[in-house]
Amino acid sequence: MDLKSGYPFWAIRNGLMHAFPRLQQDLRCEVAVIGGGISGALIADELAAHGFQVAVIEQRDAGWGSTAASTALLQYEIDTHLIDLCARYGETLAARAYLACAQAIGDLRTVARDLRDVDFRDQSSLYYASKPAHVAVLREEAALRARHGLRLRWLDAEALASDYGLRAPGAILSECAASVDPYRMSLRLLARLRKRGAQVFDRSRIERMQAGSRSVELISSDGVRVRAEHVVVAAGYAGQQWIDRRLARNRSSYAFVTDPLPAAELQALKDTMVWESARPYLYMRSTGDGRLVVGGCDDAIDIPARRDRRVESRAKKLVRKVGERLPRLELQPAFAWAGTFAETADGLPWFGPHPQHGPRVQFAMAYGGNGITYSMIGAGLLRARIQRRKHPLANLFSFERLK
Ligand SMILES: Cc1cc2nc3c(=O)[nH]c(=O)nc-3n(C[C@H](O)[C@H](O)[C@H](O)COP(=O)(O)OP(=O)(O)OC[C@H]3O[C@@H](n4cnc5c(N)ncnc54)[C@H](O)[C@@H]3O)c2cc1C
Repeated sequence: MDLKSGYPFWAIRNGLMHAFPRLQQDLRCEVAVIGGGISGALIADELAAHGFQVAVIEQRDAGWGSTAASTALLQYEIDTHLIDLCARYGETLAARAYLACAQAIGDLRTVARDLRDVDFRDQSSLYYASKPAHVAVLREEAALRARHGLRLRWLDAEALASDYGLRAPGAILSECAASVDPYRMSLRLLARLRKRGAQVFDRSRIERMQAGSRSVELISSDGVRVRAEHVVVAAGYAGQQWIDRRLARNRSSYAFVTDPLPAAELQALKDTMVWESARPYLYMRSTGDGRLVVGGCDDAIDIPARRDRRVESRAKKLVRKVGERLPRLELQPAFAWAGTFAETADGLPWFGPHPQHGPRVQFAMAYGGNGITYSMIGAGLLRARIQRRKHPLANLFSFERLK
């Protein structure tokens, strides 16, 4: 057990799957994508599939940002309850966001099916009430989601104990959820893009960006210039450095993975991911080879060295928390890690142009607990922006909601 490791699980598990060339010569393209994580990969794939000449530029090895640390539960369930989103933005827009997330899981399934071998698995999602006082709100939440066509049912304490061995006063069991190996998916997408004629560079950092009325110029740390008609900034949490205003709070999340467990031990957890109504929440899901990935204990630390020092104690705390809820499981972490993620005030992402850089620079900030689902939505949304088409979430998922 190497709990001290600051390395994330997926990168260790898969190794360096593909290396790409460095950006060494000036370049022109239709769309330059800054960032080779899951967001950059999905967006570049969407644009290239619709005829755009794309170049992806990554500062490190591709996929080694937060994508490699993600526990990759793919959920339609936003960290902010539908009830609360309704109160902020009205029922029509709030329900549209939830339904788009459900649709995005289907879209991710399609992408994964074409790529093959990225450990995409359909799951159910069990969202349990952490305390008896949360039951009423969750029941209300379940009724509202069901009214908008989301397929779910309510399980009481007895059913949770008998079906899952879970100690909780009640839960929403949703049909629509999935999991994936996010690093593998990103690398497969980038390798396929390159095979199909797109340009992908790694170890090439973009230092400056100058947006004009007809094009955008990017300058790398080696002084190489890229001129693009449009730029997508899919730089993960580093994306915030390009905008003066504070848009999100960085947080750290801690996770561990077990060795493969016998099916008799995993039982229903094989096909059901679990999370809870407390904040920060405990979350867990299985992998295709029968491991259990557990995460949570989020805190406000975003200094990597301090965060990594906590990995071991946080893993122990996570084991304890699982034991309180699922006493039949005696988990042994085989590998533990931590990663940074960002949280917006309303749990929604930012996709689109910001007034500071004009209409040719599109930001892709898939912030929040279900960032990968957001990235899939963002791919379609940003393509619509670049093609000057309307998109049903263009306002809600962009900086326009700041107004
Ligand atoms: C522990 C943990 C658990 C999580 N669990 C889930 C989950 O269960 N479900 C879920 O949906 N999401 C989850 N997330 C969030 C999810 O991982 C992120 O939303 C997603 O990985 C973001 O992908 P990205 O491509 O936007 O960012 P990243 O993966 O960080 O990629 C951005 C890339 O941009 C590059 N870059 C930055 N600046 C530059 C520059 N100037 N020039 C060139 N390249 C640059 C970086 O090197 C990086 O590789 C979790 C995150 C963490 C940390």
